Amino acid sequence: MTLNEVIALDKKYFMNTFGDRLPVFFTKGEGLKLWGDDGKIYYDFLAGIAVNALGHSHPALVNAITEQAKNLIHCSNYYYIESQARLAQLIVENSCCDKVFFANSGAEANEGAIKLARLYFKKQGLDKKYEIITLERSFHGRTLATIAATGQEKYQKNYCPLTPKFLSVPMNDIEALNHAVTEYTCAIMLEPIQGEGGVNPANREYIKQVRKLCDEKNILLIFDEVQCGLGRTGKLLGYEHYGVEPDIFTLAKALGGGFPIGALCAKEPYASAFEPGDHGSTFGGNPLACSAGYATLSTIINDKLCENSASMGEYFMDVLNRLKEEFPIIIEVRGKGLMIGVEFSKPIAGDIKLKLFDSGYLVSNLGSNTIRMLPPLIITKDDIDGFINALKKVLQPY
Ligand SMILES: *Cc1c(COP(=O)(O)O)cnc(C)c1O
Repeated sequence: MTLNEVIALDKKYFMNTFGDRLPVFFTKGEGLKLWGDDGKIYYDFLAGIAVNALGHSHPALVNAITEQAKNLIHCSNYYYIESQARLAQLIVENSCCDKVFFANSGAEANEGAIKLARLYFKKQGLDKKYEIITLERSFHGRTLATIAATGQEKYQKNYCPLTPKFLSVPMNDIEALNHAVTEYTCAIMLEPIQGEGGVNPANREYIKQVRKLCDEKNILLIFDEVQCGLGRTGKLLGYEHYGVEPDIFTLAKALGGGFPIGALCAKEPYASAFEPGDHGSTFGGNPLACSAGYATLSTIINDKLCENSASMGEYFMDVLNRLKEEFPIIIEVRGKGLMIGVEFSKPIAGDIKLKLFDSGYLVSNLGSNTIRMLPPLIITKDDIDGFINALKKVLQPY
């Protein structure tokens, strides 16, 4: 099909939640490269929104999916599943959690975290502890409970009444959080480094104070690591930057390397609050998704991609920061590892994204002033240099 034919079908038959998309459909990917419908090559600095951690068509992932699909795709959780057990072990052995439950997306993993936190207190007879505090500018997903958790009005305003008992407070403001905590507070849920809200890392001191507050007030600390987890920030989990451990954390995006899977990960005794019948999923933890997850996570660990993310991220941020002198329209470079936002003093982010697209580079914009880069963790210095050259050309007229 031609691009125009695809666009015509999309406009006629697909619900218009994504508006006018960038004018391309991809036919093939390899590493950082994507081939457009007209054969043009694009360099993927978005990685499907922090999903394609190994780049496109990584042999370890392709082999795992192909082999698993040949043998068994799905069978239901009425039976034991080998790849599910092995992936759960791999996550537990490389993180602070004791047990894992698999979902199909980030929002679903977060729903599980919210349910687990409420259930934990309920089972102790603390029926009143059900309120969840989140942060402004956060993003936790698109389901009804997770939009209530998301501290951004734009995702909520047309869906009122919202799921009750969620409130959000400003990030890096421990006083605001202290004031919001009551006897009803069950959990504090946050992204250690906010993604959709603009690439905003939390302060180290703040996170330590939040941990302390949770310990003192018998409140669970939930980290949403859906975007910042799995090597994205230069460490396997975002919390490792802060010298604290959450009680519960969630994963998704990069976990399947492109195949949909989410994970709810909890320490004991919280994990054991889920007993038979308390939670479930038809597709969650299916053989194919877990084989994809195992291949992706073991490759991230064995190929030292967290280390590459840390060193390439540092290099990337350094060169971006140096561009500030040449292009004063850049006012801030934020992020950690390969989760990077560049803020401009004017609302040009949408234009810059389009012009980079025309020069063969994929990024996203967050609001009107910030562009975001989330390249695959396998990125090299040459890839970054190519991007910087393209960005310089694009910024010339500004
Ligand atoms: C993307 C994202 C989600 C939602 O994940 P879905 O798989 O789209 O449901 C939740 N939390 C964070 C931090 C995210 O970046």
